[in-house]
Amino acid sequence: MLLPHINTPRCTGCGWCVAACPPHVLSLQVVSWRKHSVLHEPDACTGCSLCARRCPFGVITMIKTPSPLAEVPSPP
Ligand code: SF4
Ligand code: SF4
Repeated sequence: MLLPHINTPRCTGCGWCVAACPPHVLSLQVVSWRKHSVLHEPDACTGCSLCARRCPFGVITMIKTPSPLAEVPSPP
């Protein structure tokens, strides 16, 4: 499973990736007065990489995850 990783500090908020995403799981959100692209629905991401290819600034990298829900495990 591939999921997009958005390098938030480098994201310009241009919105190209949002427009390119077929299932519309990316959105622009304002964080600390700056607009960033955010993957708001990782479960519905197909891993197609279109967002990463579309980003003019190389901000998105596709990373391998065992499953969409496998976040970093929290300590016991
Ligand atoms: S990998 Fe594809 S489905 Fe997932 S966020 Fe990017 S464009 Fe959307
Ligand atoms: S295309 Fe790239 S720079 Fe533009 S909003 Fe998406 S991640 Fe940010």
